Amino acid sequence: MNDAIRAVTEKTETQFLEDARALGSLEPDVQPRATDNIAQMIEIIETLIAKGHAYAAEGEVLFDTRSMADYGQLSKRNLDEQQAGARVAVDAHKKNPGDFVLWKLSSDEEPGWESPWGRGRPGWHIECSAMSQRYLGETFDIHGGGLDLIFPHHENEIAQSRCAHGTDVMANVWMHNGFLQVEGRKMSKSEGNFVTIYELLHTETFGGRKWPGEVLRLAMLMTHYREPIDFSMKRLEEAERLLAKWPVGKPGDAAPDASVLNALADDLNTVAAVQALHALASAANADPAALPVFAASAALLGVLPKEAEVDGAVASAVDALVAMRLEMLKAKNFAEADKIHDDLAAKGIQLKDGKDAATGERVTTWDVKR
Ligand SMILES: [Zn+2]
Repeated sequence: MNDAIRAVTEKTETQFLEDARALGSLEPDVQPRATDNIAQMIEIIETLIAKGHAYAAEGEVLFDTRSMADYGQLSKRNLDEQQAGARVAVDAHKKNPGDFVLWKLSSDEEPGWESPWGRGRPGWHIECSAMSQRYLGETFDIHGGGLDLIFPHHENEIAQSRCAHGTDVMANVWMHNGFLQVEGRKMSKSEGNFVTIYELLHTETFGGRKWPGEVLRLAMLMTHYREPIDFSMKRLEEAERLLAKWPVGKPGDAAPDASVLNALADDLNTVAAVQALHALASAANADPAALPVFAASAALLGVLPKEAEVDGAVASAVDALVAMRLEMLKAKNFAEADKIHDDLAAKGIQLKDGKDAATGERVTTWDVKR
């Protein structure tokens, strides 16, 4: 059973990482899995029980929300409001209606891990408390997530972590992103307007065409992260038009411009950063001396209009041709080598010859020009 879960998560993970790469996102330093951190979760639950913040009842271990004086601070709810607003019948084994599951016993068919309370599985919230403690510490700087996770997920993470560690805060700053909309309406399966990044990149589902990762990225940066992101054809076309106007260049040693840095330093104001970038692009179009600063600023935002999208298969075909050309150059078969060079150039792929600093051997790199 646990192997079957891993097979599913690995497939989803691969797709997610491919999509993220296509959008120009950097890979995280650590990508922990809940299933590799069960021991840490059990340890926190034991601490919570020992400190009087949790109790076992009817095959579950529950967090006692009344045991925490300021429970509900993040979502600005208090327990009385929650109780009054509760529409679900209160489970008799809970001390308070808001108490939530830390551990739950599993039947033989369900996935499970051994624990002091029997074979079972963790509650959703405890996974995040355990992994953030392990990799970031008992208190850390920034916790992100969707607006819809503030309650109950983030609230309950805070309750677990603070009560287990005896700290005043779990994260110093909480950053919550807005909902995703399509053409002004909430994106949902039932609305029939559900579209994935994969479909936008690789199929003609949206607007009858594929969209480059760079365009998707810029379109998203054109909305502040706390606002609802509206995915519309108009917005995508606007992003594409902007990118087409921006010059291509290499940053070299140039640093990103202060106007872009200041915008990002202001609660990640990417809307202002894109505006600043557009001004830098206009300056660079007028004066090539301004190009490196623009290129460095664009690279910081991950929207440097450098390469057309090259998928893996095309990239390895180009690599093979480049290697073949190097062999021909070695054999002094210049006519054939030039032919490969020119054929690739006709497809927008430019080769750059150089010398490997260490070995002194000829090396060739390649780039895609628009
Ligand atoms: Zn979480």
